[in-house]
Amino acid sequence: MIHYKNKEEIELIRESALIVSRTLGILAEIIQPGISPKTLDKKAEEYIRDQGALPGFLGLYDFPATLCISINEQVVHGIPGDKPLIDGDIISVDCGALKNNYYGDHAFTFAVGEISDKIKKLLRITKESLYLGIEQMVVGKRIGDIGYAVQHHAEKNRFGVVRQLVGHGLGKKMHEAPEVPNFGKRGSGRKIKEGLVLAIEPMVNLGTKNVIQLADGWTIVTADRKPSAHFEHNVAVVDGQPEILSTFQYIEEALMKKQASFI
Ligand code: MG
Ligand code: MG
Repeated sequence: MIHYKNKEEIELIRESALIVSRTLGILAEIIQPGISPKTLDKKAEEYIRDQGALPGFLGLYDFPATLCISINEQVVHGIPGDKPLIDGDIISVDCGALKNNYYGDHAFTFAVGEISDKIKKLLRITKESLYLGIEQMVVGKRIGDIGYAVQHHAEKNRFGVVRQLVGHGLGKKMHEAPEVPNFGKRGSGRKIKEGLVLAIEPMVNLGTKNVIQLADGWTIVTADRKPSAHFEHNVAVVDGQPEILSTFQYIEEALMKKQASFI
């Protein structure tokens, strides 16, 4: 059953989503060659707890960390390890926070040092496909319209769209109905209604759309081991239109500051 949220609930989800946004902004400042995913995880946990919130993923389905950190061919659900990042890596950082009984949950894929033009394009197209999906979250449209928009943009650019993992409703539970596939047919699926809150999260691969799970029981990797990108926002339908509750603004400011310091 889909739980549609009132304005008060949407504000609480926004509060948790913005804790995640600021967490990702802090990580953006320190993601560079030499730093380990585990260090990033500790920073994130510290910041989230300082906000009077709880890490949303830690312990959820027994996941062992605050962040899902997925490097290069890892798509999602990577467990932060000790191995330092190296120049040319990409890392997808997915983060959840729980405050006032409501979850925030979003993700961004970062470049570590200098990455190839091919991979830059993968990141750009994945992020664009997220915003194209969000534009479809309008009263009267359907869930399939979101998936169609994401899929169309990614496949037009010859990238693979992951099928086995999907976006979701968000609220008092991290994963609520409905499922939000990143592929689909226009005009198919549930109708989009006022108060719907979704985590929309395209996972787009440089090569094949196929993925497999590693023996750790968590990490999802591309079947051809080519890189994969993941961007996620939390979005509510307010006055019939999509309102993005999370923001990449903190990340973008941090990245700009970092770039300026290199010149
Ligand atoms: Mg997420
Ligand atoms: Mg999610």
